[in-house]
Amino acid sequence: MSEIFNLVKRYPWLPSLKKYYPNKALKGPIDFINEVFSSDNGNKIKERILEFFKASFNKIEDFSFFMDDEINIDFYLVIKIFLSILNNKQIANKIAELYSKITYKSLNKDINSDFNLYYIYKDLNFDIVYSEEPVIYKKIKVKDQGLNLRTKFRIHFIDYLKLASNLRDNYRKLVNNSLNNGYVFIQPDDLNRLIQEYVRIKFLNQINIEDLREELLKNQIFRDLYEKISEKWEEKKEEFEYSFEMGFRKDQDLSKYLPPCIQEILAKIKEGQNLIHTERLFIVWFLNALKYPEEDIINLFSTLPDFDRDRTGYQVRYAIKKGYTPYSCKTLKSYTLCMAKKYKDELCIKGYFSKKYDEQKKISHPLFYVQFTQFVSTMKKKIEESNQKSNNE
Ligand code: SF4
Repeated sequence: MSEIFNLVKRYPWLPSLKKYYPNKALKGPIDFINEVFSSDNGNKIKERILEFFKASFNKIEDFSFFMDDEINIDFYLVIKIFLSILNNKQIANKIAELYSKITYKSLNKDINSDFNLYYIYKDLNFDIVYSEEPVIYKKIKVKDQGLNLRTKFRIHFIDYLKLASNLRDNYRKLVNNSLNNGYVFIQPDDLNRLIQEYVRIKFLNQINIEDLREELLKNQIFRDLYEKISEKWEEKKEEFEYSFEMGFRKDQDLSKYLPPCIQEILAKIKEGQNLIHTERLFIVWFLNALKYPEEDIINLFSTLPDFDRDRTGYQVRYAIKKGYTPYSCKTLKSYTLCMAKKYKDELCIKGYFSKKYDEQKKISHPLFYVQFTQFVSTMKKKIEESNQKSNNE
């Protein structure tokens, strides 16, 4: 029994939190916040939440500050209350993204504990079939070697579709998976990736408790945390204002928005030049961040001299699964992969004028370059359209 208490403590988004920790899960937000921040752990929880928000605003995926210890449930519930009163979709998305990635990593630590995984899947009410002996469901080739894929888990296709519908990777499509009597054979880490998505969405579906904000802010520690996070967000939000349109769309050509460091790698690929390992990782993470379909990323490498579809497919999927954000400008400069000077790119060399800070700011991330150039181009188009409209009137 204590095993289940521990498991729920580690994964407080599990529905059975209400059963095993009703004193926390069923408490009203005001009583809960007052209790948490008057406890001995109050300041510890506050600091951890602050670190967490800072990491998500800075797109840092170093999870070393995260611990599934005795304050984990409070940490999770306070964040949920926080998002409910902030009622800010951009922040909620960032928190959901980071928390769900941490969840995926933690779940994968349990990959060899069938009991834990089975409990989690069942608690989430998934229709799962478990076999004590792994079942062979597919044969594949890796590096010219035949490999049998085996698993102990199968999930009903209806549950599978519900969970996988937001994920765009080709290999997750139902038609690309092995089924038996309506159940999809699935590896635990793939199932965990689906749970990551479940947790992400859970963070986006907050109950609106904005009317409780004033009452909650009467708690001094909670108020202090609220002010610090709001302050951090004010500093950072400008960077995200341009992010509204970023992402792959079949009908849109993103090439004109790509920074020189990426253009250089794409030019090399086009010419069939070999890429060093760092360039390969960078381009995969970068295009993945722009939501390029996995197959398109694999196809991109087809001109390279050492191209092998199976091996590249495996490597690309592996790199994507790792879930890293692409290198920043600082890192690219240290690898001598920054091509700002070679391409005489004004935005990269001079930066952009920030109205908010009334000063010139440097580009710090290639993804920001895409966001910014897309934003500027959309704004220009809008102005042109509005001028055209007034000329016609
Ligand atoms: S400044 Fe940044 S975005 Fe521009 S080329 Fe260098 S690394 Fe790429």
